[in-house]
Amino acid sequence: MAGQTKIIVAGVSGRMGQMLAQAVRENDQCLLVGATERAGNDWVGRDLGECLDGKPMGITVVDDLLDIVSDCHALLDFTTPKATIANAELTAQARVAHVIGTTGLRDADLAYLSAASRHAPIIRAGNFSLGVNLLTMLTQKVAAALNEDFDIEIVEMHHRHKVDAPSGTALMLGEAAAEGRGAALADLRDPAREGITGERQRGHIGFSAMRGGDVVGEHEVVFAGLGERISLKHIANDRMLFARGAVKAALWGHHQKPGEYSMLDVLGL
Ligand code: NAP
Repeated sequence: MAGQTKIIVAGVSGRMGQMLAQAVRENDQCLLVGATERAGNDWVGRDLGECLDGKPMGITVVDDLLDIVSDCHALLDFTTPKATIANAELTAQARVAHVIGTTGLRDADLAYLSAASRHAPIIRAGNFSLGVNLLTMLTQKVAAALNEDFDIEIVEMHHRHKVDAPSGTALMLGEAAAEGRGAALADLRDPAREGITGERQRGHIGFSAMRGGDVVGEHEVVFAGLGERISLKHIANDRMLFARGAVKAALWGHHQKPGEYSMLDVLGL
């Protein structure tokens, strides 16, 4: 269909990669035109449709984004920090919108993405669901309304395969809480607690990460005062939530100028 946004999915055999391919296919505003995987992955060289549901779709999974990037408007990328940085170089050169869900990016990676966003739009979010982005806004407002008599703790739980902690979403919530208090998270973040930690420092923001089973993602922001506790919580039951949000970001990003954007920009929040 004319006017459709042409999309490539990176890391298409992954938990999120498969959801992203499905979300693109179910949305008639966009068209799935390509898919990548890590060199050596079983899916490389095979028809994507056959890998997904046994029905050929005429798209071969490649291990080099360079071969296909010039034929798309947006790349959906929920992979690894190393792959995401390599992809950012190519999307910047091709002036293609880069939607990044990958978490665990270091400061040097973020600086690289900032530089790449001078050439093409980059939409990066620790979480692409509407609910979590609303939770982020609420967290900032509640943190701004309460003083340091309320201790802020962010508790998250994810499935047993997750490799980084705290989650990208937990950090996003921590940043929102710090912003509400007029500070940077780096200045308020409590180190991980183990052993004799001493008393909790006033004004600090603490993180706890639970891992187990097949939990898609749960986040709770706790404001603990004396004699009362406020708690804001989001539960994700289905990864499609993130995949549909990422597709929405790609449709939006396709029409943006180069720059760094978040899901709050996409949702107009
Ligand atoms: P996963 O199942 O391990 O998927 C990652 C995929 O990327 C794997 O298929 C992996 O292939 C592939 N990959 C690795 N290097 C690659 C390369 N150079 N080129 C192409 N593909 C490559 O992990 P997941 O659960 O889908 O999560 C992926 C990332 O998204 C994580 O950082 C996670 O925290 C994040 N995430 C974000 C959100 C959000 O809303 N922002 C939501 C969920 C997850 P191999 O298996 O062959 O290595």
